[in-house]
Amino acid sequence: MSEILRAEHIVKIYGNGVMANKDINFSAESGQLVSLIGPNGSGKTTIIKCINQILSPQSGQILLDGTNIHTMRTMELAKKVGYVPQMTKNFMGGTVLDAVLMGRRPYIKWKITDYDVTLVLEILKKLEITHLAHKEYESLSGGQKQKVLIARALAQDPDVYLFDEPTSFLDIKNQLEIMNMAKELVHQHHKLVIMVVHDLT
Ligand code: ADP
Ligand code: MG
Repeated sequence: MSEILRAEHIVKIYGNGVMANKDINFSAESGQLVSLIGPNGSGKTTIIKCINQILSPQSGQILLDGTNIHTMRTMELAKKVGYVPQMTKNFMGGTVLDAVLMGRRPYIKWKITDYDVTLVLEILKKLEITHLAHKEYESLSGGQKQKVLIARALAQDPDVYLFDEPTSFLDIKNQLEIMNMAKELVHQHHKLVIMVVHDLT
């Protein structure tokens, strides 16, 4: 096993003065599934967003394969880190296919290739959402949206997956499937999966 991600002394204070992360330190390896657990408001989403460069911490650094992520370009980081956000009311226009194809953006030079489309269709099939491909994302149920966001992260084919409560809207069957998929990413594909979970079982 080899270390892929390291957080050193991360401090994140929001504009309103709330210190959401107070000196966070950890390291994680490829082939690991790391659960992030803690009460509501304890700063789980905040640290996930710092790892994905959505937020900038006040101090400390996050190293990906030894490189400080703040020196990396967004598209470069997006090839290495995939993010499934905690479900919020963020509007996303377009169809399911558009949404999942967006995961290929870091790889697309001029236009979408056959490879991109084939890969995305395979992912939709794997997650059993092929029938939703041409539906508007906004017309979906919470659980369906959650699977689309997971599909988008898979399309990015990153080394590190950040899942923020990825199963909160899913029924038991789909929860198990997503958990098994996470295991597969870790054990078969040697990815690092960092997952915020509530259900400790
Ligand atoms: P968790 O995901 O563990 O529930 P969060 O990381 O979302 O926790 O939040 C940690 C703390 O930061 C909470 O006190 C929350 O109210 C606060 N917080 C989160 N997002 C913001 C924001 N955009 N602006 C100000 N405070 C925030
Ligand atoms: Mg959260």
